[in-house]
Amino acid sequence: MEEKKFDTEAAASTVTELRRTFAAGKTRSYEWRVAQLNGMIKMVENHEQEIVEALRLDLNKPEFESILYEIMLLKSSCKVALKELKQWMMPEKVKTSLTTFPSSAEIVPEPLGIVLVISAWNYPLLLSLDPIVGAIAAGNVVVLKPSEIAPATSSFLAKFVEKYMDNSAIKVVEGSIPETSALLEQKWEKIFYTGNGRVGRIVMAAAAKHLTPVVLELGGKSPAIVDSNINTTVAARRIIAGKWGCNNGQACISPDYIITTKDFAPKLIDTLKRELERCYGTEPLESKDLSRIVNSNHFDRLTRLLDEDKVSGRIVCGGQRDRDKLRIAPTVLQGVPQDSLIMSEEIFGPLLPVITVDRLEESFDLINSRTKPLAAYLFTNRKKLKHEFVSNVSAGGLVINDSALHLAVHTLPFGGVAESGMGSYHGKFSFDVFSHKKAVLYRSFMGDAAARYPPYTQGKLRL
Ligand code: NAD
Repeated sequence: MEEKKFDTEAAASTVTELRRTFAAGKTRSYEWRVAQLNGMIKMVENHEQEIVEALRLDLNKPEFESILYEIMLLKSSCKVALKELKQWMMPEKVKTSLTTFPSSAEIVPEPLGIVLVISAWNYPLLLSLDPIVGAIAAGNVVVLKPSEIAPATSSFLAKFVEKYMDNSAIKVVEGSIPETSALLEQKWEKIFYTGNGRVGRIVMAAAAKHLTPVVLELGGKSPAIVDSNINTTVAARRIIAGKWGCNNGQACISPDYIITTKDFAPKLIDTLKRELERCYGTEPLESKDLSRIVNSNHFDRLTRLLDEDKVSGRIVCGGQRDRDKLRIAPTVLQGVPQDSLIMSEEIFGPLLPVITVDRLEESFDLINSRTKPLAAYLFTNRKKLKHEFVSNVSAGGLVINDSALHLAVHTLPFGGVAESGMGSYHGKFSFDVFSHKKAVLYRSFMGDAAARYPPYTQGKLRL
């Protein structure tokens, strides 16, 4: 029998069912929230090897990366939420003003209601479940739409989320554009989308029809500025870890390009070559420690960037590719023009152009002349340069002397700015982004000021 399509009618009935659950109030209790978070931990612990296998099928993701960046980061989010939840749920007492004397006031966090999470393929487990940690911690009901481009992980989620979590409140809808479009026609209290900016605009336009607020976790070209007075080996290793060590560059916060001085570029490139060989050997296409490119569309997109006339011949390291196995080696390029494709769009893959300037301070203008990136990195020992970087460069997040690691700090908000996104999450920010902060003012019948009431007189204004 043919399976029924998930269309607008199915989307509407899913929403109705979840709204009923929300209205019944069960997702509001502390105990329910804790049970869901514990259920999520149990799910990933009990099925660790199935997750690793799904990520291998989807991306040939190395087991080490799957465990560290998908499973452990997710468990750590759940554990932070479990530890802090009571505190997060407490109303926050705030001061009142003389105008309302006598009074007291508090800010009461309340769940929004029904929220939609649409996630991307590159960290298909983490990007699907991490927003849900915040959504359920805040007491909402949720629909998750994982990415169809990582089908094995998507079907893992569809199969196991309902087994380990409350299926009357948390649902997974698999599918691609038609299913997502059907979901986007519905009214939600928040839409949390991770992916590219083109679809981000579609999501925001759909949300506008219902005045639904959105979180858009997008991408961009995240630069890494590299100074000369540094431990070059450590810097090169940390660039490698954030670039090729994160899904072979298919990560939203991977360094997209390097800016360094003309004088220092040769040393940096030599060090990168040496350390890349140490990590991935002399035959990087055979390395078991590199993810493959997710599919042939992305493979062709990346090779187009490499083969553009302006760019070919600029490879200083790597460049090997195998279309049958969807593999591209870590590749460093030098001297690519600013108007090349590779410098115009987010690379999202294993290619790393090195751009040179006369003075490193010029890099701030170079970065600020482009759309704001999701992340920006600086490797230096110079205090003044660090300070100038922090005050002059606008990006979702900054890291000094490392790359990508800010993602793992739950006390920092994670999100973009301008075209790299809006809204943020992680730690308490995840709870806040899925909560309404309700303002509550308490007054008694004492101290009633007659001056407030008509008839209005000039004298009353001066009181
Ligand atoms: P993707 O192709 O998986 O798309 C993301 C989601 O959008 C999927 O669930 C997909 O089904 C849905 N979608 C696609 N086309 C749609 C349409 N026309 N209408 C409605 N829904 C649609 O992922 P992607 O966009 O290739 O992801 C890569 C991008 O995401 C990069 O730009 C990357 O930087 C960004 N990203 C950002 C973060 C972050 O946390 N900020 C994390 C990962 C990826």
